[in-house]
Amino acid sequence: MSDFQHFIPIAKPWMDEHEADAVTRVIASGWITQGPEVTSFEKEFADFVGAPHACAVSSCTTALHLALLAVGIKPGDEVITVSHSFIATANSIRYCGASPVFVDIEPGTFNMNPSLIEDLINEKTKAILCVHQMGMPGNLDAIIGIARRYNLFVIEDAACAIGSKISWHGKWEKIGKPHGDIACFSFHPRKLLSTGDGGMLTTANDEWDHKFRLWRQHGMSVPDTVRHGAKEVIFETYQCLGYNYRMTDVQAAMGREQLKKLPEIVARRREMVKRYRTLLSDEISDVGLPFELTWAKSNWQSVCVWLPERVNQITVMQEMLDAGIATRRGVMCAHREESFIYGTWSCGKGPGPCECEPGRCARLDESERAQDRCIILPLYHQMTEDDQLRVVMTLKKSCVRI
Ligand SMILES: *Cc1c(COP(=O)(O)O)cnc(C)c1O
Repeated sequence: MSDFQHFIPIAKPWMDEHEADAVTRVIASGWITQGPEVTSFEKEFADFVGAPHACAVSSCTTALHLALLAVGIKPGDEVITVSHSFIATANSIRYCGASPVFVDIEPGTFNMNPSLIEDLINEKTKAILCVHQMGMPGNLDAIIGIARRYNLFVIEDAACAIGSKISWHGKWEKIGKPHGDIACFSFHPRKLLSTGDGGMLTTANDEWDHKFRLWRQHGMSVPDTVRHGAKEVIFETYQCLGYNYRMTDVQAAMGREQLKKLPEIVARRREMVKRYRTLLSDEISDVGLPFELTWAKSNWQSVCVWLPERVNQITVMQEMLDAGIATRRGVMCAHREESFIYGTWSCGKGPGPCECEPGRCARLDESERAQDRCIILPLYHQMTEDDQLRVVMTLKKSCVRI
C-alpha cells in the first residue's frame, strides 16, 4: 500500500454517464416534474419487485405516511414497530396522530422480534410497521401470521431492502411484492438505488394505489399530464386533503438507469460481505457480523458489526476516522431522542417491570445495546479488495491491542 491513503467513505452511489445522459434527455424534453419518466419508472419498478402497483413519491418518509393513511391509521390508534430504526419509521406513525408502540429486536438480524409482538396487541392496535433493517428481510411469515390472526394491517418499511429476497412458499421472491399490505422504499443516496431523494409504494390493492396517486398531488382529480395533453379545456377538482409528495421526472430518469444496475450492485455487495466475513473471522474473531436465516437473502445495504465488549464504540470510530475511514454507530433508537418525549410512544408495558424514561427502556434492551455496541463499516460498489482489507486491519488495531 502506498503512503498516501485515500479516504474511505461510508457509502457512495454508483453513477456515471448513464444517469447523466438520462437526466440531460429529461431536461431537453421540457417536462421535468412528475410525468412520463415517473410512469415508466413505476412500471419498471413494479416488474422488478413483482408488484401489481408501484407509485413513486418524494421519499420513503412520505411513502410511509401515505401507507399508514391508506390503511386508515388515525389519532388514538396504535401501530407496533421498532424503535431501532431511522427516526422516519416512528415519525410516520406520529404524522397520523397515532402512537408507535415499540417492540425489541433480535440481535442477530437487527429485526423486529416476532415473539414479543402479541403481548403488545390491544383494542387500539391497528397495524404492524415492520422494518427490513439494513436490507435484511424481517420475519414476514411470523409477523403476517400474527397480523392476520388479530386483523391488523402489515406495512413493510423496505427503505433499505430493494433487491433483497425472501423465500415464500418455497420460492425466492423480492421484498416489495409486497408480502404484507404495502411496502415503502427509499432512494436516498445511502440506499442501493438512488434518485437523490425519492420513494416508492407497492401494493396489490387497487383502491390504495388510486389514493396514493391522489394524495401525492394535492388530491387533484386530473393529473397535469392529462390536462396538458387534452384537446378540450379541463378543470380539475380537489377531492380530498392532499400533499405535494411528487417525484420529479429528473429523479425518475436517474432511477430507471439505477434499476438496470441493481442486480449487479446486489451481487457485488453480497460478494463483498462474504469477503468481510472471511477477513473478520481471520483477523478479529470476536467482531460479529449479522447472519442470514435460511429464508433470507439480504442486499446488505449496510454492514453493521458487533464490537467486542472490551472496546469503546466512539474510540474505535474516532481511531478509524483518524486513519481515513468513515464508520457510523449502530442504527439509532427513536425512543432515546428528545423528540420522542415520553407519552408520544410506548413500550406497551404490560405486566412486569418497565423503567421507561428518556433514553432508557428496559423492554428495548437489545435495541439500545445494538445502538451502543455496533458500528457500520464502509461498503459501496466501487470499493476495492484493498479498501476492505484496510478497513479490517484498522478495526483490528482498535480491537486487538498488543
Ligand atoms: C432511510 C430510511 C427511511 C427514510 O427514507 P427517506 O427516503 O430518506 O425518507 C425510513 N426508514 C428506514 C428504515 C430507512 O433506512
